[in-house]
This record gives sequence, C-alpha cells and structure tokens, in this order.
Amino acid sequence: METTSQRVNTNRSSESLLSIVIPAFQEGSHIKSSIGVIEKILIDNKIPYEFIIVDDGSRDNTWEELKSLASSNDKVTVLRLSRNFGKEAALCAGMDHGNGDMLLTMDADLQHPPELIPEMVRIWREEGYDVVEGIKNSRGKENPIYHGMAKLFYYILLKTADIDLERASDYKLMDRKVVEAWKEMPEKTTFFRGMTSWVGFDCKKISFDVAKRVKGKTKWSPYKLLRLAVNAITSFTSVPLHCITILGLLMLVATFFLGVQTLYMKFSGRATDGFTTVILLLLIIGSSVMVSLGIIGIYLTKIYQEVKGRPRYFIAKSIKGGENK
Ligand code: UDP
Ligand code: MG
Repeated sequence: METTSQRVNTNRSSESLLSIVIPAFQEGSHIKSSIGVIEKILIDNKIPYEFIIVDDGSRDNTWEELKSLASSNDKVTVLRLSRNFGKEAALCAGMDHGNGDMLLTMDADLQHPPELIPEMVRIWREEGYDVVEGIKNSRGKENPIYHGMAKLFYYILLKTADIDLERASDYKLMDRKVVEAWKEMPEKTTFFRGMTSWVGFDCKKISFDVAKRVKGKTKWSPYKLLRLAVNAITSFTSVPLHCITILGLLMLVATFFLGVQTLYMKFSGRATDGFTTVILLLLIIGSSVMVSLGIIGIYLTKIYQEVKGRPRYFIAKSIKGGENK
C-alpha cells in the first residue's frame, strides 16, 4: 500500500487518475443513467477515472442497480453502508476509498453539472490549484422560509467562524494531499463543506447553475437540515458560548439598576408597585437561563458524541469491478 507521504506530491498529467465519489440514497430510478452521462463526458475528454459510489442504506433498488453496474464496469466500486448514516458519512466512506490523484465529490441526481468536470480537471492539472470548488450561481427554486433560514445560517457561520459558505456546494475537486489532510481530522460528526474549506490550500472557485433534479425528490427533511445547520455552527465556532457570558454581564447591569429601583420603592413605602419588576425579572432571568442551558447542552452533546468515538459509518458490502469482496 502506498503511504501518505509518497502520494502527497502528485504528478499532474493527463494520466492522473480522477476518483469520483457519489453518495446515493434512494436514487435507484436514475443512478445508472446519471453515471452513464458522467462517464461519457470522462471518456470523451480522455480523463482516467474511477467511480466510488456509496449507497447510504437506501431502501429502494439503488443497491441492486449499483451491483449490476459494478459487475459490468470495472471502473466502478460500490459500497453499501449498513444503514442510512446521512450524506456526510457517505461522503466520508467515499473519500476513504478513492485512490485517485484527485478526487471529485458530486451528487447522484445530476444537479451538479458534469459538463464542468473537464474544466475542473484542467484547472487542477494546468493551473496547479489544489481545490476546485463549484459555487452555485443561484440556489434554484426554494421555499421562502427555507431561503430565509439558509441565509441566517450562512450569516452566523460567516460572522462567527469566518467561513463563507453561502454559495458553496459539495461539488468539489480535491488534490490527493487535500484528501489526506481532510482524513487527518478525527472528529466523528463531519461537516464536509466546512471542513474542506477549513483545511485551506489553493482554491479556485468556478460557478455553476444548479440543474433540476433528474428524478426523485430531495432527501433533506426540515429536521435533517436543522440538524446539519446546528452541527455545522457548533463544529466551527464557540461564539454562542461567549454570547452567554455577554448576556450574563448585561443581565448583571440590568439587575443592578432594577435592584436600586426596587430598594428605593421599598424604602419609600410603595413596595407593591414593584410587582411588575418581579414578574419581568422572573421572565428575563428564566428565559436567559433556559437559552444558556440549551446552548451549553448542544456543545455538551457534541463532546459526548466525540468522546464516544464511534466510527463515522459501517460498510455492509463492497463490490469492486464485478467481484464480491
Ligand atoms: N444523500 C445521501 N444520504 C442522505 C441524503 C442524501 O447520500 O441521507 C445523497 C443523495 O443521494 C444525493 C446527495 O446526497 O446524491 C444530495 O441529496 P439531495 O439531492 O436529496 O439534496 P439537495 O440536492 O436537495 O440538496
Ligand atoms: Mg439534489
């Protein structure tokens, strides 16, 4: 087996191997045709390639389709996770199994236009960039509530962790050394977009229009999206924790003034008037304590999860070039 150090300085030539990592969950109806479209572009452009397709515990016929694909095409390796671990884990599994000099991650539904691949590879080969990142021109059609929530999420990440992901996507080509750097990050709960941006390296952005999904529906429920957003923010910044301290200080100042006022009322014999103050204080303190505990709870959960050190995913089956492994 090759070691990391041997592979760090990749030789960038027309012979360089491209690993394409595709997570697939319930994509049985179109996965074969999607791969066909991508493969044709690679062949036409004479790019050496391999596919690593990760079935993220689909319950439809995705695995059967992938199995038959792998048996007829020796450039395709398919992995099946033991259950639905989520896109992040599926991407990890794919990143761990790609052998290419460069690795490209993309979706199974052709929303990431494959026509861009030759250009991304060219930038890597000729311009020497280590990361070529697809940037969304527009976010496609979205429900206004989702749109507002997404905006808020990106704003928080930008302001607190200095990571601008507003138009970032998971359509990314990475040099082998970036993949190796990425693999060195030990956390179990990953946030692919944030982590690939955090590792640094020379990055060139190219924009694309998000195409329409070929078939099927989006797999992100509001709950899954919210979980991803909270996970992303708490993975990259502890600013919310500091907010608690600031909130506490502000409360202290308010308490001082209210305290003086309450005492004044008491000594001047108008104590019952302070009833409103009591209610207000109860409300404010109660709510801020709750919010603070909630935020601490979120971070605690993270520590708990990392301390448990569970593997990011399990592979139930894997087939390479037509054989069972
Ligand atoms: N996906 C996955 N596991 C999941 C959800 C999604 O592997 O639990 C894959 C899915 O098959 C697709 C990609 O992640 O290849 C993007 O998902 P989707 O198209 O549903 O998301 P959207 O494009 O709407 O953001
Ligand atoms: Mg999609």
